Formats: sequence, structure tokens, C-alpha cells
Amino acid sequence: MLYIVATPIGNLQDVTLRALEILKESDFILCEDTRHSRIFLDHYQIKAPTISYHQHSKLSKMDYISELLQQDKNLALICDAGTPGISDPGNKLISHLIVQLPNLKIISIPGPAAVISALSISGFETDKFIFLGFPPHKKGRKTFFEQAAEFKYTLAFYESPYRILKALNELANLEDFKDREITVARELTKKFETIYRGTAENIINKIPKNEIKGEFVVVIRAKK
Ligand code: SAM
Repeated sequence: MLYIVATPIGNLQDVTLRALEILKESDFILCEDTRHSRIFLDHYQIKAPTISYHQHSKLSKMDYISELLQQDKNLALICDAGTPGISDPGNKLISHLIVQLPNLKIISIPGPAAVISALSISGFETDKFIFLGFPPHKKGRKTFFEQAAEFKYTLAFYESPYRILKALNELANLEDFKDREITVARELTKKFETIYRGTAENIINKIPKNEIKGEFVVVIRAKK
């Protein structure tokens, strides 16, 4: 059995009772970064052995994981933060296992996902929205924003602290986005949680420029 277990996006209390139970009972826990996840696992005295998996995991690692599953071991997949498979390497592993082991039972243990938390506080229409993951770093970035402008629903994307100002400047300079209301959710559930609201230009003026740190979700109101 493979459990896809959501873990906190910051605040260690944001985890379900079911998630803790499943993790405690698992034979192995698959982690994106074992050292990073150890902080969370130790906090809840979860002692199951961990196995690392990441974007560059070799086929032999995937084969090892599928072997364990074929031996009827219970495995839990977690990621660095939030729901595995949402803009992280978990997705590649899950799709590989579905092909390799068509009868494998995959069970979702739901919990936090940064995009959903950000949408929930945006105040924008959320009965329909489009999640765009991370914009490309360089090549294809311009096209990413131009294509995003075509969609008529609320938009959400993830951005790193190194490129958040760049992204806001790009939005401020695009006719389709410059007047749209934006919510930038920084460090959700953490000590320095900050929510910026306004146009891209308003937010650029509000974000302290000295050292931009943290994790960011950008949500843009649907075009009228
Ligand atoms: N699987 C994760 C999820 O369910 O949200 C997302 C993984 S993705 C590799 C990491 C990105 O999620 C970060 O760069 C940031 O954009 C966003 N993120 C994660 N935690 C966050 C937080 N506490 N506050 C704001 N954004 C966060």
C-alpha cells in the first residue's frame, strides 16, 4: 500500500491525526529530503526508517521502491512541505508506480497545500481557478505570463524568493495584469507570515527589498 501523506507547510501543528497514525505505522517513509523531514518526524516521534527520493532519483531507486511495495510493505510518501505531487518530485514517482504496479493501492491522506491556503485567503473567486506551478526561470518565462493572461479564471502560481520581485515587475508591465488585484502569500503558517494585497506595483512598494526571504504564492484575480 502506498499512502500519499500531506505534511505541514510550516507550522508543525498543521497535520491530521490520520497522517500521524499512518506515518507511525508505515514500514518506510519516502522523503524528498530526509534531513529536512526528520525535523517533522522527530517532533512527532515517528521512527519509521526513511528513504530519499527526489527529482534526480535513478531508476534503480524507483525499482527498489516498487520491490518493497510488491513485498506488501506499507510505504508513506511525504514531501518537504504540503501535499506530495503538487509541484514537487512526488508526482514523477507516483506516475511511475502506477505504470509499474497497476494493482497498487494508492491512498491519499489529505492536508495542507500552499496553493489552496493562499487561494482560501485571497478573497478572489475560487469556484474556478488555474494553478500554474512555478514560472520558468529564464527561457519561456515571457510566454508563461503572456499565456497566463489568456485565462479568464483566478490564477495562482508559486515563486521563489529570488524571483518574486522579478515576477511582480513582469506583471506590473503587462497590460493584462497591471491593474489586476493580486494577493501575495508569504511564509504561510510561519513566524514571518505576511499577506500583501493590491496591484503588482502596490505590492512591489510594500515588500521590503533588503533581503527577500521565504516562500511565496501569488494569486491573481480573474479578469473582468
Ligand atoms: N507540495 C507543496 C504544496 O503542497 O504546497 C509545494 C511544493 S513546491 C516544491 C514549494 C513551493 O510551494 C514554494 O517555493 C512556495 O512557492 C510554495 N510554498 C510552500 N510552503 C509555503 C508557505 N508556507 N508559504 C508560502 N508558499 C509556500
